[in-house]
Amino acid sequence: MIPAAFDYQAPATLEEAVSLLAGDPDGAKILAGGHSLIPAMKLRLAQPQLLVDIARIRSLAYIREEENQILIGATTTHYQLESSDLLKQICPLLPMCAVSIGDVQVRNKGTIGGSVAHSDPAGDWPAAVIALDADLLLIGPNGERTVKATDFFVNLLTTDLQPGEILREIRIAKPSGRFGESYQKVPHPASGFAVVGIAAHLELNDDGSCKRAKIGVTGVGVKAYRAQGVEAALAGANLDDQTIASAAAHVCDGVDANSDLYASGEYRCALAQVYTRRAIQAAKAV
Ligand SMILES: Cc1cc2nc3c(=O)[nH]c(=O)nc-3n(C[C@H](O)[C@H](O)[C@H](O)COP(=O)(O)OP(=O)(O)OC[C@H]3O[C@@H](n4cnc5c(N)ncnc54)[C@H](O)[C@@H]3O)c2cc1C
Repeated sequence: MIPAAFDYQAPATLEEAVSLLAGDPDGAKILAGGHSLIPAMKLRLAQPQLLVDIARIRSLAYIREEENQILIGATTTHYQLESSDLLKQICPLLPMCAVSIGDVQVRNKGTIGGSVAHSDPAGDWPAAVIALDADLLLIGPNGERTVKATDFFVNLLTTDLQPGEILREIRIAKPSGRFGESYQKVPHPASGFAVVGIAAHLELNDDGSCKRAKIGVTGVGVKAYRAQGVEAALAGANLDDQTIASAAAHVCDGVDANSDLYASGEYRCALAQVYTRRAIQAAKAV
């Protein structure tokens, strides 16, 4: 499988990348880790005329703590997130999610920005950034703007990114007070992609009851989503087994679950309920 012919540019700065994309907004595509784009090009599902390689812009790969926020550069690799001691301490959901992705090779090349921008219905990062209520900083020909992760995923492989825009940074409020997090996933046996992936962030009261829950779901629908029915059932509740089970039963509310050769929609929803339960149980135990 050989991709169609294309030109290649490796800008040294973000500004240069923006201007290359602005020069050809329809024919140019951003290349980051290449682990979703290159397979799509080999299958001729994507035929860009120009690849703008942002993985070589060193200043775009970082994990930083700044006041009450965690800042993550778009080309930070899955492996960098998986192995970050800072994140293991202050936001363990991110390393938990990273380590579940594909295999070592994929994690060494693939980037969080590429995964979020791609919006694969079985991608892991969309569930995590939604559960963490992240802000996404985009830069394009008209300057910078910020979009809530919950508004960013529009449809299958479709986001709010406009032609020529680059996802630059992911911003997450540093969790404070008592909290627990977990990522629970059923990986597809061939690729590792999520058949179902549940990201849970729980804010807990001193007595262990739930102040607020944020639950991100991937693998089930055409795009990642917040399970609002589950969140509403957990808010203010004691996290006993029965409450968790009846809250988890709402995970597929209002969602038309995907069916494919591996899993029917009905089976996916059954898995999603079990894994939502497990994610909440694991998060409350932290
Ligand atoms: C064998 C295999 C197994 C995998 N298993 C998993 C898995 O278990 N879970 C999982 O979630 N993923 C999995 N992946 C996908 C992997 O995580 C990819 O790395 C990821 O989806 C895309 O990131 P990338 O950096 O490779 O992006 P690319 O492939 O370089 O780009 C993907 C798309 O996003 C655009 N893009 C990239 N960066 C930006 C940016 N900063 N701003 C705007 N647009 C951008 C590109 O133009 C392209 O359209 C797997 C991939 C392979 C090949």
